[in-house]
Amino acid sequence: MSHEEQECLQCGQCCERWGWGQKGKPEDLVPWIAGNRHDILQHVSIRFADGRRASGTGIMLDDLPHISRISYWQDAAGRKMRRCPFFKRSEDGKALCGIHDVKPWVCRDFTPWNWTNHEFHGNCPACREKSP
Ligand code: SF4
Ligand code: SF4
Repeated sequence: MSHEEQECLQCGQCCERWGWGQKGKPEDLVPWIAGNRHDILQHVSIRFADGRRASGTGIMLDDLPHISRISYWQDAAGRKMRRCPFFKRSEDGKALCGIHDVKPWVCRDFTPWNWTNHEFHGNCPACREKSP
């Protein structure tokens, strides 16, 4: 779900379909490390420039320049997840992000109604409403 909530209808299709298998940015990790958000960091897969791999729980701010790849998401055993662990639905079926205030950039930047020729357009009801 985008930060532009006035556009997003919270159907949740984007989180269910694309909320996993995404790349992260080192900047995503800064508030999670500063806030001791191990609940989030345990689901982050890290690869360093020297080839080492780690869970986000072992990362410090000084490590950020040495990261070559950040991947979302993994389970507690380090296995790749094929869903977002933070995706929820309210009782009325609306999609909710469990880490909305600190969600990664790839999620904050997801505003498909502002894009053209994107394959996801047909699945986003907010995009369909914007179509001429
Ligand atoms: S598919 Fe569109 S309307 Fe549905 S949650 Fe995602 S951005 Fe919002
Ligand atoms: S972190 Fe939040 S916005 Fe991103 S995929 Fe998961 S539930 Fe959706």
